[in-house]
Amino acid sequence: MKSWIEISSTKLVENLRAVQSVAGTSVETLAVVKANGYGHDATVIAPVLESGGARWLGVTDVEEGARVRQILGHGGTRILVMCGMDLSDAPQIVAHGLTPIVWTPEHIGAMERAARGVGHRASVHLEIDTGMSRQGIAIGTELDKVLERLAASRWVSCEGVMTHLACAESAPGTPGSAVTAAQRKRFAAALEQVTAAGIKPELIHMGNTSAVDEGSTMKWIRDAAKKLGARAMVRTGLGLYGDTLSLEGEATAALHPRLSPVLTWKTRIIGLRDIPAGATVGYGATFTAQKPMRLALLPVGYADGFRREASSGVGNGWVMLAGRQAKVIGRVSMNLTVVDITGRKNIAMGDEVVLLGEGVTADDHARWCHTIPYEILCGLRGHVHLA
Ligand SMILES: *Cc1c(COP(=O)(O)O)cnc(C)c1O
Repeated sequence: MKSWIEISSTKLVENLRAVQSVAGTSVETLAVVKANGYGHDATVIAPVLESGGARWLGVTDVEEGARVRQILGHGGTRILVMCGMDLSDAPQIVAHGLTPIVWTPEHIGAMERAARGVGHRASVHLEIDTGMSRQGIAIGTELDKVLERLAASRWVSCEGVMTHLACAESAPGTPGSAVTAAQRKRFAAALEQVTAAGIKPELIHMGNTSAVDEGSTMKWIRDAAKKLGARAMVRTGLGLYGDTLSLEGEATAALHPRLSPVLTWKTRIIGLRDIPAGATVGYGATFTAQKPMRLALLPVGYADGFRREASSGVGNGWVMLAGRQAKVIGRVSMNLTVVDITGRKNIAMGDEVVLLGEGVTADDHARWCHTIPYEILCGLRGHVHLA
């Protein structure tokens, strides 16, 4: 096996508990396992999260939802399809007991037909666009039309009303927090329209990991839910996997200190080589040895999610070998990477190497690549198993 990913189910459940405890016991936590569980394999972690007490999971689309449903069976765990639906998905959504996020009259019409087809009611969550301009319905007349459709529906019930924040990591006093304040205000207006239309959602939700970490939205959503006689929910992904973005502005991270990464990505050395001074390494001959060196070859590259930006002279990435850093030498190739083990003793063929884990975090990889840990994690490819 070229590389593999070990998941600590203990840490995953500890992170879930940390989110639940920081969010508050009155708040429901939806565990986001979309994008194949941010590289952690949704089908491997979904049962762990379920037995750890998650009553809601969030998936990307109907296909991922069906895979997770097949693993979990039709027990009590709810699965929210978060990233839109095709109208033709509706029968599958109903058949697999999934709950879609909807925002157009056409979505509701498609769900109505699918639910009527099987003869039992389907629940949906309605997304309000409060400032992302991505998914969701605009407040005002457009929202009124959708609410009218929902209120008249025999087969579809509006179980949840939700929105998504653009700047959840921004603490009060920052420009981002003004965006959040405007979003809350629009969401409050939307909730008034919902109530006026005679619809009583059981759940309202708007925060992600950063909202839990930053805190101020949590109080807002709890209060807003209470006013409606509904339950508040947060949707956390990155936090479950043990990471958060840095908060912007004067804020104390409430969640971050309580989390630990759950994933370790490993491979094994498949080659050892001594090179003389003057030898070059890899494509483009971008690295020239200034002295004799000893190199180890790893069977992973950018095709596996070990990003090309980790190359020496670019991001200057490293791996961990027997608890110490070994630097990437030359360019990362599609399926191969060379690291420096000059002067190191007792390194042998087949030795285990940590590509991401203790000593080399998703944040490190993200820094090499000028991106966010989300993109690193969901780009990993390797066989996932519980450790
Ligand atoms: C991905 C996603 C989340 C989870 O975000 P994290 O920052 O990983 O906690 C929450 N809500 C929506 C709508 C999302 O798409």
